[in-house]
Amino acid sequence: MLVNSDNPPGPCQLCGHEPLREFVVPNKTVLWKCSRCGLYQYGPMAAGVHRDTSSEKPAEESLTCPKWCTERRSRRKLRTATVRLNRIAPLLTADHVSMVDVGCGFFGAMMEAADRRGWTAVGTDVGKAAVFHCRRRGYRCELCENGRLPFEDQSFDLLTAWNVIEHVEDVMESLAEFRRVLRVGGILAMETSNANCLKARVFGSRYRRFWPSGHTYTFPPLSLKQFVERAGFQVVRQPFVGRLSELPSSMTCYALGYQAQYELRRVLRIQKAFQLFALRVDSQASRGKSQPLAATA
Ligand SMILES: [Zn+2]
Repeated sequence: MLVNSDNPPGPCQLCGHEPLREFVVPNKTVLWKCSRCGLYQYGPMAAGVHRDTSSEKPAEESLTCPKWCTERRSRRKLRTATVRLNRIAPLLTADHVSMVDVGCGFFGAMMEAADRRGWTAVGTDVGKAAVFHCRRRGYRCELCENGRLPFEDQSFDLLTAWNVIEHVEDVMESLAEFRRVLRVGGILAMETSNANCLKARVFGSRYRRFWPSGHTYTFPPLSLKQFVERAGFQVVRQPFVGRLSELPSSMTCYALGYQAQYELRRVLRIQKAFQLFALRVDSQASRGKSQPLAATA
C-alpha cells in the first residue's frame, strides 16, 4: 500500500534505516529518501498514473493515437530497441528466444526489433490504449492488471522493462513477478532513472524534470542491484554493443555512437538513466513483498 506525505513509510525498504527524510518536489511529487543507502522510495501516487483500468471504456472506443505517437518517433524507438537487443543477445543461450517487453507502450518497438531477429515477442502494458495500439500494429500484446503479468510461469528467455521499475507499487513484488515468468537462465534487462546522476545530486528537487509525478522509486544503481539480487537474480556484465555482424549494416555507426555516448555519460556520472542486466538463477527464493533487510546495508 502506498503512503502519503503525512504518513512516513517506515524503515527503508532496502537497508532498514530510519527515519527517512521527506523529499518534496513542489507540485510534482513527494518521495522519502534514505540517508544511508540513497534510495528514494514511494510517496503519494500521482492521480491517474497507476489507475485501475477495469472501469475504462474498451480501447476500441478511443482509437486516436496520441499526438506524440509519430512515425519519426516510432523509427527512432525502433533503432534504440535494435541496439538494446543486440547488446542483450550474447547473454541468451536459447536457440529460439522468447521474450516479453513489460511496459511496451504504444509503439511496440521492442517487439518489432525482436521480430526482425526472428525471436518470438509479446508485450504487456497497464494501459488499455497502449495494448490496443500495439495489437493494431500487428503485435501480440496483453493487458497487465493488478500488478500480475498475464503469463504462465517460466514462459520467457528474456524480459525487458525499460523505465518501468520506477513506477511500480512494490519493487520486490514486481521483481518476483519478473522472475516468475522467466526461465532459469533467462535474462532481465531494465533501465531506470539514476538517483546518482550529477545534476540530480547537485540540484536535488530543483531539477524538476528529473522527478516526474508518476515515479514511486528513484534508485542509485547499487540499490537496484541489491534489490535484484535479493529477488533471485545475478547481475551480469553488459556487452558494449553485442555482435556488430548481427546488426543491419546501416545501424553499425549508430549503435557504436549511441553506446559510446552511454558509456561516456556513465564514466562522467552524468547519466540520467542506467541499465541493469541480470540472470534469473534457481538457487534463491524470492522474498516477495519488500521488507527491510538491514544485513544488506
Ligand atoms: Zn536505505
